Amino acid sequence: MRNKVIELAKKNGADIVGFAPESRFSKDSEIFKILPETKTVIGLAFRILRGIYRGIEEGSTYYQYTTMAVENMEETVMPMAQLRISMMLEEEGYTALPQRRHQQIMAEENSTNPEVAYDAIYRGRTNEIQLDFLDTAIKCGLGEKGFHNVLLTDEFGPMVRYCFILTDAEFEETKVVEPHICDKCGKCSEACPGNAIAENGDVDPWQCAVYYNGANGTKNPFMPPYAFEDFENRLEIIAGEAKVTPETARKIIDNLYFYPPAGHAYQCSICGRACDMACYIHLEEKGVLTKKFNSPFRKREEWKFDLSDFENYEKDEV
Ligand code: SF4
Ligand code: SF4
Repeated sequence: MRNKVIELAKKNGADIVGFAPESRFSKDSEIFKILPETKTVIGLAFRILRGIYRGIEEGSTYYQYTTMAVENMEETVMPMAQLRISMMLEEEGYTALPQRRHQQIMAEENSTNPEVAYDAIYRGRTNEIQLDFLDTAIKCGLGEKGFHNVLLTDEFGPMVRYCFILTDAEFEETKVVEPHICDKCGKCSEACPGNAIAENGDVDPWQCAVYYNGANGTKNPFMPPYAFEDFENRLEIIAGEAKVTPETARKIIDNLYFYPPAGHAYQCSICGRACDMACYIHLEEKGVLTKKFNSPFRKREEWKFDLSDFENYEKDEV
């Protein structure tokens, strides 16, 4: 049955499949609160098309990343694979419970998920239990933890999304990956247009939300010169140097209306996950990724608008 699961997963778009036995989880793990009879967690990782990031890298097309690499993956592609595998398991007499991240529910009272509108999030909800996604992916052998708390896979580096199925079926386990990809180069933090990644690799969710949404004008082709006119620290914001709080982050995001959001409350990514792109470019240059392409991802020097474009604008441009 293990091979049947892998085959079905691959037929439905998954690229990496891993099996974690219950023994890898502590007795008080969320998986046993969600499905007490869990014997195996099946992990499924799906590549994000590399070409989708190229539009943002070139500064030419942005919408595709959010619709194709976030919204459609989360709402269509991954659930379809999860459902088909789960139905097959139930056909064999086992119980199967798909686990996809609920993008709009979080246990923390004052945090946020950069990928969705901050006012569409239900906070402080501990009765809707969710897995620790990164930790579960690592336990399933899908990849290792990269410096900025991201899953790094041998094949695609950080360019993947992932989900799980809990089941009472038992499978031969997949080995946990011995960390060997992340070399702590720091290129992910350097590439963030909003300094959202701390020295220890933690990502500040509000700082990330502001700059994921495009507050850095030097990396946002849609931002007009007069952006944030009513903000005293407008140039700091536009330069990616403003340190935000949850309150100031909300105000800044409310003034980022230069590009439409996607459906399902997904916000359009203007940073294009620059942290992941920089990581990918680094890993590709080192030659450590097993999925090879005919030409390198980065074709020319990185572009950037000048901050002076926002300093000296004519009032009648408004
Ligand atoms: S960019 Fe470097 S430090 Fe960051 S996750 Fe990738 S390999 Fe690790
Ligand atoms: S590059 Fe974008 S996604 Fe990554 S930490 Fe910075 S703002 Fe967040």
